[in-house]
Amino acid sequence: MTVKEVLEKSILFLKNKNSTSPRLDAELLISHLLKLNRMGLYLKYDQPLLPEEIENCRNIIVERGKGTPVAYLTQEKGFYGLDFKVNSSVLVPRPETELLVEEILNYIPNYFKKLENQSASFEFLELGVGSGCISITLAKELLIKPNVSRLLNGELELKIDALDISASAISIAQENADKILQSKAKKINFLNLDAFYFEPQKNYDIIYSNPPYIAENDPNIEKNVKDFEPHLALFAKNNGLDCIIQWFKFGVSNLKPNGMIIFEIGSTQGHDVLTYVQSLNSFHDICIIKDYSGLDRFIKAVKNG
Ligand code: GLN
Repeated sequence: MTVKEVLEKSILFLKNKNSTSPRLDAELLISHLLKLNRMGLYLKYDQPLLPEEIENCRNIIVERGKGTPVAYLTQEKGFYGLDFKVNSSVLVPRPETELLVEEILNYIPNYFKKLENQSASFEFLELGVGSGCISITLAKELLIKPNVSRLLNGELELKIDALDISASAISIAQENADKILQSKAKKINFLNLDAFYFEPQKNYDIIYSNPPYIAENDPNIEKNVKDFEPHLALFAKNNGLDCIIQWFKFGVSNLKPNGMIIFEIGSTQGHDVLTYVQSLNSFHDICIIKDYSGLDRFIKAVKNG
């Protein structure tokens, strides 16, 4: 069988399994197995495959047909132009979460202007780190971006505390940090801890999270998300609001004046979360930010001085 034949068979198989993106999925999975990029697949279109390659393609396509996310099968997912290792102990990074990174990066130049007595270090905290995609991307961006050169030239030091309750998530995140940040990986201090019991000895400049925010009985959750992604990272009590509420309270006591807190939220939670954060009387510039689909997706607030 040639690459073309295997690809066509796979697309048909996935179509029959009601996949919404059969061609893309088949291309990603087969090119991953053959260690080619998607273009390379078409360059080798008429080339015959070895029997074991055909068998491996068959097996991976069958797994996809059962609903396993492509990223868990290839064990990788792109986020903000970087490649992250993933497995079923971490949430697959979502494109909308890239906006959370952008919001933080956009806040930093203004924040620097507001800092009067600069402390020597610039401290971030991530709650629920998963694959590490947010903190690692931030570290990578902040250590190479010219407009934050005060971090670069050493006037300020960047330190990130990144917590996760799951030991296997922490180990994937550490692996990603080592691969992507290399010698700078030590800027991130990964902690295998339940955020609920975290008692930091310092205050942070920025606190961020993509917390679990799906209600335990949400009928709208996609079947494959529910069946394959880690429930610890998806579901929260109190209609999905439990972690958002607990962790915002944490922000009241552990953010520096003018420090920013930003969390991803569910698209129906904007009103309730906004009302709750306003009721804390500790923040200003509180706002809900929409994602590219026009859905409420983040809550952002700045700690009072
Ligand atoms: N955005 C994810 C989804 O819709 C959920 C992520 C989360 O709960 N933090 O499936």
